[in-house]
Amino acid sequence: MKILVPVKRVVDFNVKVRVKSDGSGVDLANIKMSMNPFDEIAVEEAVRIKERGEADEVVAVSIGSAKSADTLRTALAMGADRAILVKTDATVEPLAVAKILKAVVGNEKADLVILGKQAIDDDCNQTGQMLAGLLGWPQGTFASKLELNGDKIRVVREVDGGLETLLLSRPAVVTTDLRLNEPRYASLPNIMKAKKKTIDETTPEALGVDIAPRLKVLGLAEPKGRVAGIKVDSVAILVEKLKNEAGVL
Ligand code: AMP
Repeated sequence: MKILVPVKRVVDFNVKVRVKSDGSGVDLANIKMSMNPFDEIAVEEAVRIKERGEADEVVAVSIGSAKSADTLRTALAMGADRAILVKTDATVEPLAVAKILKAVVGNEKADLVILGKQAIDDDCNQTGQMLAGLLGWPQGTFASKLELNGDKIRVVREVDGGLETLLLSRPAVVTTDLRLNEPRYASLPNIMKAKKKTIDETTPEALGVDIAPRLKVLGLAEPKGRVAGIKVDSVAILVEKLKNEAGVL
């Protein structure tokens, strides 16, 4: 069984991004970039499945600039066997990412794709669902537990009211939620070994995918700063303020 794990290079989750003064985007100059945290969880899960002897190969794939190779090296150091860089300097929207991944799934003959539930830069939460739709495969999104049993995959998923358990037939698409596992840190020897692993390169054009944008960002703005709260002496004053100042009653 072959597992494909898409990994995206995003602004590190510790960085507080600033909106550019013209509102056209966020300033990415000299900012620390890392693997999307949900994708780290996806790599960890795929590597654990392989370590249990339930998969033969884990292939990481990233769509982005040449710098996405760093993200792929991290996936290789965590235990992925091989990597594919789909190189482009353009912004690639979730639908185009899903189409590219569909092409890679076809070329690689992957049986399972484990993605993050969302990329923390644009918070789209769309790619896994679109990929499953394009492939016509079953999907288990927001997985907090994953068990393989022959060609069946049991996925426990986090939903508003609690937990839902699905039984999927392979091939399938799964997206990871925070509680699925705790990703390992790559050890120094594994980081060194990862340098020798292969990263194959291709492009969206070579995969026959048109990545022309379909969405237009009209503007970006910082959220309004919060004003400090106050303490009131009585319920009567609270009600009066909610009515006359906040206008919520
Ligand atoms: P999104 O739908 O953009 O929130 O992304 C969901 C997941 O799709 C991410 O966690 C990744 O696993 C995958 N993904 C999105 N964009 C890319 C990309 N450029 N390269 C590789 N994987 C991606």
